[in-house]
Amino acid sequence: MMTDRKKLIVAIDGPSGAGKSTLSKLLARRLGYLNIDTGAMYRSVAWAARQKGMSCDDNDALGRMARDLKIAFEPSDNGELVFVDGVDVTAAIRTPENSLLTARVAACPAVRAALVTLQRRLAENGGVVLEGRDIGTVVFPQADVKFFLSASARERGRRRYEELRARGVAADLEQTIAEVEARDAADSAREHAPLVRAADAVDIDSTTLGIAEVLEKMLAIVQSREAVRDGAK
Ligand code: C5P
Repeated sequence: MMTDRKKLIVAIDGPSGAGKSTLSKLLARRLGYLNIDTGAMYRSVAWAARQKGMSCDDNDALGRMARDLKIAFEPSDNGELVFVDGVDVTAAIRTPENSLLTARVAACPAVRAALVTLQRRLAENGGVVLEGRDIGTVVFPQADVKFFLSASARERGRRRYEELRARGVAADLEQTIAEVEARDAADSAREHAPLVRAADAVDIDSTTLGIAEVLEKMLAIVQSREAVRDGAK
């Protein structure tokens, strides 16, 4: 007898520029799942902190602000738009300046607690692909499938540079690579929820693989787990 496909929680973690955003969107679309870009949430908090003139190190105030912030994702013809309290911040949260501020804001435990609560609520019914740094380790240690997606820092910097240029943002290649490395170091060294690979994650190195190849690999793994979970029902 045919059963409904089991809707899983899929975690994609890894450093910036490894292709997480692109792949999680594509994977979610192919599976008919919801895609949750947790990096955009941390970026939104950093953007709002700056708008409100808040210090990026004031843990308590930032945590309260993050809890009250209305972060919304809306699909559009130009990809997914991000709104903060009704303002379209899609481009503003991706500038190099906001990226650096984000790493500082993301180091605040109160901000992390507020966003992790939100992420768990959004994903509680399954049928989601969440992408970030701590999904498989902190947000959903019990996720059904965990991927750790990486690529060399040079290749990731090059991709970020192309992305910025395509969006009309002025950028310098070597500086963009250096920014990727600085952000890696901050994300890996921070005290709270540093970027670490979950012991049970599937490793994928995308340095020399195209998007389509990585997508098919991921899809095959998720679908085989969906089949196992179906059989177990
Ligand atoms: O994925 P993205 O590059 O948009 O993430 C921006 C920043 O947000 C990261 O450099 C990291 O500091 C922070 N982040 C995080 N935990 C997540 C997702 C993002 O700390 N789950």
